[in-house]
Amino acid sequence: MPIDTHTKILATIGPSSATKEQIAALIDAGVDAFRVNFSHGSYKEHKERIKIIRSLEKEKGRLISILADLQGPKLRVGNFKQDKVLLKEGQKFVLDMNPALGDETRVCLPHKEIFEALKAGETLLVNDGYIVLKVNKCSKTSAETTVVVGGYISSHKGVNLPNTKLNISAITPKDEEDLKFALKNDVDWIGMSFVQKADDVRKLKKLVDGKARIISKLEKPSAIEDLENIVMESDGIMVARGDLGVECPLPTVPVLQKKIVKLCRLNAKPVIVATQMLESMITNPTPTRAEVSDVATAVYDGADAVMLSAETAAGKYPVNAVQMMHNTIKEVEGDPLFFDLMNGSRRVPCNASEADAITFAASELACVLKNVSAIVSYSSSGFTTFLTARERPALPILALSPDIKVARQMALVWGVKPRVNKESFRKFTNVEECAVKYAKDAGLAKSGDHIIITAGFPLNVKGRTNMLHTVYVK
Ligand code: PGA
Ligand code: MN
Repeated sequence: MPIDTHTKILATIGPSSATKEQIAALIDAGVDAFRVNFSHGSYKEHKERIKIIRSLEKEKGRLISILADLQGPKLRVGNFKQDKVLLKEGQKFVLDMNPALGDETRVCLPHKEIFEALKAGETLLVNDGYIVLKVNKCSKTSAETTVVVGGYISSHKGVNLPNTKLNISAITPKDEEDLKFALKNDVDWIGMSFVQKADDVRKLKKLVDGKARIISKLEKPSAIEDLENIVMESDGIMVARGDLGVECPLPTVPVLQKKIVKLCRLNAKPVIVATQMLESMITNPTPTRAEVSDVATAVYDGADAVMLSAETAAGKYPVNAVQMMHNTIKEVEGDPLFFDLMNGSRRVPCNASEADAITFAASELACVLKNVSAIVSYSSSGFTTFLTARERPALPILALSPDIKVARQMALVWGVKPRVNKESFRKFTNVEECAVKYAKDAGLAKSGDHIIITAGFPLNVKGRTNMLHTVYVK
């Protein structure tokens, strides 16, 4: 069954979505891609879930993207003696390198790089920013702080330092292990957390060595400072609003979201809007009006995908959350204003290549011609399909690649229905015939329709798109 929407749904997998029945129900409700989150769960669990997704792919005849999300240098406090401790406004609180259990006066912060970089007057945010600590004085092994905003603190709570440039590698030893595991288990995308600069992405690229594509998660002010370079270096971007909203003033987050989505689209890089989209559905069967509006806004912004985190990983209503997201996407995409917006914001890139021009023209044809039912994009690396998706055409994009990994990656990209096609890439002669056959099989064309084909000759050279063709479907 083809899903009738263009904007994709990325769902985080977790205890609420671990069985075959649960994962199948999520796919049926409209999930296109799953996030395996290496901040939680064991290898055994991840392996089992990946296996289930791959077997459901076969059963349902639909390719599914898997994003392995590396934890990155997430900073956390150590353990406390009690379940939780109340920090009161105005009191002193010490962070140090002493592994002894914490209490209301101190706790271990086992990251020496923090004490090396921290300065008096700087701010530490604990537990998603709910607790604010201001540094009075700092040594190489401890920091005395004053509690500016109090609250409960407990073991392993996350710590953010929005204004401190830390000399911490973006790839931790745990990430290296997790990456090896992920690549061995055939994931399609690698998510890189807490990217600070384009060079971080270059380092990960070396380790990934072409075995997956990289999504950079933008969740630090320093990443925003190096935004253009990070976007250019990455294969895709996540607007990681959870940590971004802790480290940057909250009212800047929606503005950054629009700016990042626009920049990604201009550069034909898939972009995901993530975190708290339907947060209240973790415990409630229906969301707030504001949450539905937030999903709609991301779709109107032109995001490739919207993400669910705890809603599907640990919530009580994972299937309802996906259905709500899918119905919201459908409603927005059915609004004539939506394609007016997508069309009005199309830009011819400066220094346009042949591939840019042909994918732009394909989208023009799609606007002008009647009876056209799909754009068929031959693309062995997926590069031309990214360019086609950038145009946000009001037609499905059927992506044909000989490489199953590329085809699976494309399941996360706006408007793309991916298929593996090996035969055309061996012989250029049956390009039309194959395009028609695959479009019909996918339910994207019937007799009397036209389809638009873009391809490059020779077929398997990256970025060599030089052919645009319309074909009548007999
Ligand atoms: P996380 O990333 O869920 O891995 O923290 C997303 C975010 O920070 O928004
Ligand atoms: Mn995060």
